[in-house]
Amino acid sequence: MLNLSFSEDQELFRQMVREFAQTELAPGYLERAKREEAPREEFRKMAELGLTGINIPEEYGGQGADYVTIGIAIEEIARADINCSYPIAVGGLGGGAFLKHGTPEQRETWLPKITRGETLLGLALTEPGCGSDAAAMKTTALREGDGYVLNGEKSSISFVNCATDFFLFAKTDPKAGARGVSCFLVPMDAPGLTTSIFHDMGCKPIGRGALALKEVHIPASSLMGQEGRGFHLVMEEFDYTKVLIGLMCLGTAQAALEDAIAYAKERKAFGKPIARFEGVSFLIAEHATRMEAARLLCYQALWLRDQGKPHTKEASMCKWWVPKISAEAIHDALLIHGHLGYSDEYPLEQRWRDVLAFQIADGTAQIQKIIISREILGREYLPY
Ligand SMILES: Cc1cc2nc3c(=O)[nH]c(=O)nc-3n(C[C@H](O)[C@H](O)[C@H](O)COP(=O)(O)OP(=O)(O)OC[C@H]3O[C@@H](n4cnc5c(N)ncnc54)[C@H](O)[C@@H]3O)c2cc1C
Repeated sequence: MLNLSFSEDQELFRQMVREFAQTELAPGYLERAKREEAPREEFRKMAELGLTGINIPEEYGGQGADYVTIGIAIEEIARADINCSYPIAVGGLGGGAFLKHGTPEQRETWLPKITRGETLLGLALTEPGCGSDAAAMKTTALREGDGYVLNGEKSSISFVNCATDFFLFAKTDPKAGARGVSCFLVPMDAPGLTTSIFHDMGCKPIGRGALALKEVHIPASSLMGQEGRGFHLVMEEFDYTKVLIGLMCLGTAQAALEDAIAYAKERKAFGKPIARFEGVSFLIAEHATRMEAARLLCYQALWLRDQGKPHTKEASMCKWWVPKISAEAIHDALLIHGHLGYSDEYPLEQRWRDVLAFQIADGTAQIQKIIISREILGREYLPY
């Protein structure tokens, strides 16, 4: 049986999140987007609504939502403000990692704080010398007494402006490749950890920056999962966040397309609304078609995850294709607005710059295509 509809509860949930997002987030999006400042007040309201702990079980104060429902939340929030959708993705990644790999003590300590919005997690994998080839990282975590000492540098890390803690990846066995990587919980205020912020072309509120680690001492209880299994942990969760990134971009593109549709009906040229010209209406039809296909792909991937079925290939398809078609849709929505679209008083150029971030973050298109080819052709055809 094939059923492509959302449940009644999911439709009601979408309505509730949409009302919240359109009332509380959409009006201030453009103004906030220009500042390198985390939207803390908006994050607080989202936590109050249960969105930061949406995938966390009720026993820890969360909503215990399925993945499809989380997708609905992120798409609706991003339609209003893509930057505000970020904590749902990172919180979801963190929540999932604690549930699968955390000790009972770690779950008790961290999960209620994530749901209440007191803990905002960042993820520190990338380094100045490696991003796609993350296993080549140089940061080390060496055993000393009853803990670890961290040294190294992380670069291009989101939420450096507001995270309370990071899932930080470092080599416990510096001679090993991916199998030498472990994951640690590192508080932002750990002595020896310093930060700097990048000045980006978009997504300014999510505060991308660098972390320098100089003799940072952390207790052994900060290890997430097993030593040497950090890479496995993050790849598993990326199969989830890659899909959420698709929906974040799609929500943003949907807002742009809706603006273009409204404008095309209202703006007149040569005595007619420009929506009457095929050069305009067919553009809208083409983007609406691609976005509908992208939406189906994203929800299919989340549905597969809900069923416990493999979805690595579908997640990578969402990650490379959906940000790309979303950026293209926003680009054309901007052009449909003519000279007005070029102004920074309209949100179109801002949305376009924001969405570009996600063609890079969480892995570039080329890396996703390597993963998809591996899944289709087999490991023996990997380029390395
Ligand atoms: C807005 C934003 C937010 C981010 N947030 C985080 C975060 O929170 N935490 C974190 O750890 N990282 C984060 N990143 C970093 C991101 O994950 C990396 O930038 C990404 O994985 C690419 O790595 P790189 O920039 O080092 O590019 P490189 O790996 O140096 O790649 C450069 C170019 O070469 C291409 N390339 C590399 N290898 C191959 C290959 N084998 N075949 C074909 N082409 C190849 C790439 O596709 C790319 O076009 C963020 C990045 C951005 C832009």
